Amino acid sequence: KIVILGSLNLDSILQISRLPQPGETLSMTGKNSAPGGKGANQAVAAARAGGAQTAFIGRVGQDETGNFLLETLKKDHIETDHIVVDHQKDTGQAYILLQTTTGQNSILVYGGANQNLSLTDVKNAHSIIKEADFLISQFETPVEVTTAAFVYAHNVGVKTILNPAPALDQIPAQLLAATDLICPNETEAQALSNVSVTDLNSMRQAAAFFQKQGCARTIITLGARGAYIYDNQHKIDQFVDAFKVKAVDTTAAGDTFIGALGAVLKTDFSNLVAATLYANRASSLAVQKLGAQPSIPTADQVQSYFN
Ligand code: ADP
Repeated sequence: KIVILGSLNLDSILQISRLPQPGETLSMTGKNSAPGGKGANQAVAAARAGGAQTAFIGRVGQDETGNFLLETLKKDHIETDHIVVDHQKDTGQAYILLQTTTGQNSILVYGGANQNLSLTDVKNAHSIIKEADFLISQFETPVEVTTAAFVYAHNVGVKTILNPAPALDQIPAQLLAATDLICPNETEAQALSNVSVTDLNSMRQAAAFFQKQGCARTIITLGARGAYIYDNQHKIDQFVDAFKVKAVDTTAAGDTFIGALGAVLKTDFSNLVAATLYANRASSLAVQKLGAQPSIPTADQVQSYFN
């Protein structure tokens, strides 16, 4: 079982030819909305990768959007019993400025109910965390809540995967020490380790930085270049190449990678390279489609594409 603790957002995707300058008014070339939020995207990616049952810990507002996001997760057979309906704040929202010429995005996030996820919510979810193979979390919900969940998971022998996104300058020492695998992108790896992540040597240095603080494994995702893996236990230190595709929207590429990875990974991390290859495949399909959750492929779609 995979347990994801994290955010749920409704994404408004604003299609533009380029970013507007300060003071400038620009016409959009299109717009639509889709379910998103790093946590929810990762849960959907794990569920669609098949195999493991997926459960979610999070908060939505008491509004139509919240309801819609809950229903969306249920359609992917994700357990929503530990998603709390918050009475103070409305459901999280993201505004994605998607440059259609390049597929690049700039994102504004309104945390809303995600910001109210609490230590009590984690306590109430101890029973599902305890049964999990992996607990996965990110930084769109309060970091002290993720820390409490990871410390609990670590103490009861449940493996943890941290996606330190959006980037923070620092991770609480307790959190990193309770993390079995940290999975940042280049920007996040750089912000946390202060190493400019460019070549193999600098990636090793970033991984060594995380290892010194108690996290034995690092995967740095590198966009169109794929991913770098470091595992001190299994003596892995290598790149896994991405697949050459035409990216139209890279939103949720990282989330697809992490969810898919968690779903196929063995709890002793013995198949880390093979799981990374699968995660690269799944996210190479996600970047070819518009939207966060609508773009996340099922195991069948991944299999038939790469057949
Ligand atoms: P994030 O979305 O968190 O910034 P990345 O951009 O590193 O994460 O992308 C995560 C994964 O998605 C990569 O490791 C790669 O497998 C895949 N990916 C991202 N962009 C592309 C691309 N342009 N072509 C092929 N695969 C991609």
